[in-house]
Amino acid sequence: MITVRNLVKTIRHEAHTVEIIRDITFEIPDRQFTAIMGPSGSGKSTLLGLMAGLDWPTSGQIEIDGVDITQLNEDQMAALRGRKLGFVFQAYHLVPTLTAIENVMLPMEMLGDERDGAFPRAEHLLKSVGLHDRSAHYPTQLSGGEQQRVALARAFMMRPSILFADEPTGNLDSTNGKHVLELLWELNKTEGTTLILVTHDETLASRADRRIVLSDGRIVLDARDSQ
Ligand code: ADP
Ligand code: MG
Repeated sequence: MITVRNLVKTIRHEAHTVEIIRDITFEIPDRQFTAIMGPSGSGKSTLLGLMAGLDWPTSGQIEIDGVDITQLNEDQMAALRGRKLGFVFQAYHLVPTLTAIENVMLPMEMLGDERDGAFPRAEHLLKSVGLHDRSAHYPTQLSGGEQQRVALARAFMMRPSILFADEPTGNLDSTNGKHVLELLWELNKTEGTTLILVTHDETLASRADRRIVLSDGRIVLDARDSQ
């Protein structure tokens, strides 16, 4: 369960203070698939970064399973991230000197456990994003969409209980976008992963349990799928 309470993020820009997130409050129950939508500049990426503990709010609380992450130090936050959070960013952040499969295995290598299981799991994930024949390629040898799919496979590697993704299908053509959506959907249904996705994609949003729409740093619509 994620609880966001009276969240505010302001940024000093030259002479003035800009309010990017303006007093946002909501809860996300476990296993929910939420789409965060809204026009460009409305604060979607900022909100996602705050919820994932990658950025600090100006005020307000964010609780993940009862722990207020705004009170954690860097080490405590890193431990929580490694244990239960996964991310897919708009920029892929792949390690250029590692192959696709090595990039996917990286989170597990860094924790140093379950190494024997790492290779087959990474292979399985690359296959499920349609890249089994690209596993030995380096990021520069992959297209933008392929890099995005490697990043997605890497985010799934540790079986996160919460996955945050910023426009995960934004750079993909419709076939690959569909692949990724199916993968996210499957993860949500079979592994019970809580999904919080920023998206402009109507197809993706229509599969979500809920959509939260932001405008100018505020929630202007919070709708649950009635189906
Ligand atoms: P979205 O993801 O919905 O497009 P963002 O969360 O990226 O929106 O940004 C929300 C607003 O905050 C935008 O107007 C953006 O220009 C501004 N903003 C974001 N980060 C910064 C920053 N580091 N410094 C100044 N303004 C920022
Ligand atoms: Mg954004």
